[in-house]
Amino acid sequence: MFTFLNQYGFEAQRLKAVLFDMDGVLFDSMANHAEAWTRAAALHRLRMTREMVYMNEGRTGSGTINALALEQWGRAATQAECEAIYATKSEIFNSLPPARPMPGALDLLNALRQEAIGIVLVTGSGQRSLLTKLDDAFAGFFVPERMVTAFDVRHGKPHPEPYLMGLRKAGVSAGEAVVVENAPLGVEAAHKAGIFTVAVNTGPLPDDVLAHAGADVVLPSVRSLLEAAIR
Ligand code: MG
Repeated sequence: MFTFLNQYGFEAQRLKAVLFDMDGVLFDSMANHAEAWTRAAALHRLRMTREMVYMNEGRTGSGTINALALEQWGRAATQAECEAIYATKSEIFNSLPPARPMPGALDLLNALRQEAIGIVLVTGSGQRSLLTKLDDAFAGFFVPERMVTAFDVRHGKPHPEPYLMGLRKAGVSAGEAVVVENAPLGVEAAHKAGIFTVAVNTGPLPDDVLAHAGADVVLPSVRSLLEAAIR
């Protein structure tokens, strides 16, 4: 499993756990997030383009809102503002057609489980609708003891804290794990945590952005990772 990573400098025989990001990796949900963020921001006097959504992906909701507020209002957002904007964003998100599981994701999880490789979720999301959907789409794979969400961390991605916590939950060291990420800030967080990082470029950003963020390999999709892994 993942022996193809040997050519990129990762000793695949050491692999004990894979740490998965959620949005844009397990769920094909980023188009919905982009739609919800751009509309919610406009309703709260902030400007956020779709590209900005993809570039900020991985931050917690308040992390994203504060980054915009500092840049456009010249001050941090208050907690009440963060809560109001994130509530609007979540409401719009939940009104959109439900995001589908990413093609290949369930097969990849099953293949890892067959090899007894640990699976941990590391997401900046605090979106309860998606977190609860995890168990519908990927039954039995994600339980709180093996999940890191926006509710668990002080510093969101791109800080390494979420991935360091993911390693602890997996009970493995950085050299025994691989991260699967789609977002530049998520890749940066994983790279800073010292973990070999596979970027799956499921969005509109150029591959370079993910490589510069610290990805060790950039693949075009989750299915391409599955195919490389089981080849
Ligand atoms: Mg993501």
